[in-house]
Amino acid sequence: MSFSCIRLSKICFLLSVIFCAVLLLLIPKFQASWRPRNYPQPHPPPVFNVSSKSDIPLQQVESSSVDHLEDEANNIVPSVREELLKKWNRYIIDTGRSNLKANRKINDSPTYPFHNVVKDHVGLVEVSAKEKLDLKDIFIAVKTTRKYHKTRLSLLFQTWISQAKGQTFIFTDWEDRELRLRAGDHVINTNCSAVHTRQALCCKMSVEYDKFLESGRKWFCHVDDDNYVNLPNLLHLLSAFSHSQDVYVGRPSLDHAIEAADHVRNDGSTTVKFWFATGGAGFCISRGLALKMSPWASLGSFISTAERIRLPDDCTIGYIIEGLLEVKLLHSPLFHSHLENLQRLRGEAVLRQVTLSYGGPENKRNVVSIGEVFSVQQDPTRFKSVHCLLYPDTVWCPTLMVK
Ligand code: UDP
Ligand code: MN
Repeated sequence: MSFSCIRLSKICFLLSVIFCAVLLLLIPKFQASWRPRNYPQPHPPPVFNVSSKSDIPLQQVESSSVDHLEDEANNIVPSVREELLKKWNRYIIDTGRSNLKANRKINDSPTYPFHNVVKDHVGLVEVSAKEKLDLKDIFIAVKTTRKYHKTRLSLLFQTWISQAKGQTFIFTDWEDRELRLRAGDHVINTNCSAVHTRQALCCKMSVEYDKFLESGRKWFCHVDDDNYVNLPNLLHLLSAFSHSQDVYVGRPSLDHAIEAADHVRNDGSTTVKFWFATGGAGFCISRGLALKMSPWASLGSFISTAERIRLPDDCTIGYIIEGLLEVKLLHSPLFHSHLENLQRLRGEAVLRQVTLSYGGPENKRNVVSIGEVFSVQQDPTRFKSVHCLLYPDTVWCPTLMVK
């Protein structure tokens, strides 16, 4: 009995040793089969094309601007990114070729900072989540003067102002009974002098700004009395942003930032560089940003700010926003003044802009190229023709235009 017991325990011991040995042999095999298959594998180094740059097809080089825009949108959540790309593609001037290349050509500036601005406003577009904006949320200030009431201003009343009576405010320098009857308390006699000097123009801008703050509206847009405002397009543009964000949008008249003498700044410099939107093409400012401008713009301080840098009203706006508040101008090719060649804007593209203008008496031919609704003799500014194309059932438009 004891013998068989000893033998049995020996056999058991031997079996367990064999079992352990087998286990030990099997472990590496198990390890191999447990290794997850989807561990990232090191990539082979990319094969660089050593051919010269000129080998790159031209088309590829030209579309780099679009790629750049896509790159900048890549860090945004996909749905917002899609929207962003769509949104900005819509805002490009289309003079037959609806892409960023056209935008570059129009502005004649290879360094036109459209992409940077998109980048700077990415946060803003993301936050905006499409604000439900109504025309009544916009305050449109039209700057005019006594001598233009019967000419320039009448044309505006006949055309776009007729569609935005409640939104438009006329800033002038003379009490005109006829104008008062026409527009009531939407005419503001600024009591600024009726001259084209820096001080007089800044005086008007100062009143425009104060009246806007008082109005409680969401957006402040300034235009001159030789601008046509395409209201649906303006509304569409501003709807892309939130009025509580910092938004300053318009068209720079120069292809570079300007520099103004300033007090000694934190970095020791005595000049400040900034972009500004030219007043002659119109520009808009969100309420959020306008409120921040208040220390340098409200209750007459706009005039002393302008004096400090000795620059005109539109430059002073740029100085406050870019120079002092460090908010970037959103450069838009959709605003137009007669400083540019307006004849290059033709056909359908004319109707896609936010503002238009026309050349003065010294440059009568500088007008947008739009079809013959009215002849150039009947409609030298082309505003009536544009208006009839946008609002064909206007009573004075040719009847054949009514659909
Ligand atoms: N303007 C003014 N006072 C003047 C002359 C002009 O307020 O003594 C206004 C004019 O009504 C227009 C703007 O300033 O809204 C620009 O005037 P204009 O188009 O004659 O000149 P620009 O600067 O565009 O060449
Ligand atoms: Mn003008």
